[in-house]
Amino acid sequence: MTEIKSLTMEELKAALKELGEKPFRAGQIFKWLHAGVRSFDEMSNLSKELRAKLAERFVLTVPEVARKQVSQVDGTVKYLWRMRDGDCVESVLMHYEHGNTACVSTQVGCRMGCKFCASGLNGLKRCLSPGEILDEVLFMQQDSGEKISNIVLMGTGEPLDNYDNVLKFLHLVSCAEGINIGQRHISLSTSGIADKIEELAEEKLQITLSVSLHAPDDETRSSIMPVNRAYPIERLVRACNYYFDTTGRRISYEYMMARDKTDRPWQAEKLAGLLRGRPAHVNLIPLNEVAESPLRPSTRETVRRFQAALEKRGVTATVRRKLGPDIDAACGQLRRREMQK
Ligand code: SAH
Ligand code: SF4
Repeated sequence: MTEIKSLTMEELKAALKELGEKPFRAGQIFKWLHAGVRSFDEMSNLSKELRAKLAERFVLTVPEVARKQVSQVDGTVKYLWRMRDGDCVESVLMHYEHGNTACVSTQVGCRMGCKFCASGLNGLKRCLSPGEILDEVLFMQQDSGEKISNIVLMGTGEPLDNYDNVLKFLHLVSCAEGINIGQRHISLSTSGIADKIEELAEEKLQITLSVSLHAPDDETRSSIMPVNRAYPIERLVRACNYYFDTTGRRISYEYMMARDKTDRPWQAEKLAGLLRGRPAHVNLIPLNEVAESPLRPSTRETVRRFQAALEKRGVTATVRRKLGPDIDAACGQLRRREMQK
């Protein structure tokens, strides 16, 4: 059965036509869906017959809160959702000055195998549908009672390894008739699947592309991110430049600070060399320790010096504030703990 929330307005109109209904019903139904109704019976401006027809023909996904952790330090909320088939995914609600930001997962697990990441430790279970990704946003907003204004695709999963569903999600979530979060308020983070970055460029979206670079040399990068063997740094940077040239959107590079691995002075120099003269922004991320990985975080002082070295060479860099330090903050850790039970 078709998941109704994965349908665009156009697809919904076509489906209703097939059911012998007037197309304007699509607008009403779309609004209900994006308001987070839990059953077709809540759609009070539809006839009982139509509601029954919809329930017969479509699946309405409603994830349950399997676990929820609230940070006592900064109010960050981490959700573990249980979906229809019993699989679980995580999302995080963060409070920033510029608004509330939802960090959402795009897959159950991940097959990219980055050495520092808890999400990938058990590989990929399955991809999320467009509606399931949308559900994370809708139900986080509903459960928290807080308006979400920004989205980052930085939870579990590699968004470009679930390309079609993620693209459809981006259209659904930025649709004027729905929750209507502008594309400029959305960031997509990728480990660097260069072909897909180029394909995405052609869509000419207004989203921010965030690239998890984490090392400026192939030897180091390949040792922590297997994807680098398929798409080495030079190839990746070429795709990023193409993305900027095509969309006019500045790329954001994520760079994880791991002690004696990615934080050495020559690496700052090399990183600056890669990005020099290109509109780019570097986000220095303090490594979150994951028990299964030998990598350790850099010291504060090293991070500060690395940042200064980049700035000196004309590359803008900020250090990401760590939110929710008292909850299972690192990507994939909450789901992992639940799986181990
Ligand atoms: N798969 C995508 C998006 C999800 S991961 C990607 O890799 O970009 C979101 C971000 O968290 C990425 O930049 C990733 O490298 C980073 N990350 C994963 N594990 C981490 C850890 N233990 N410490 C710090 N950052 C981590
Ligand atoms: Fe997957 Fe991103 Fe984790 Fe790498 S960092 S394993 S791509 S979720």
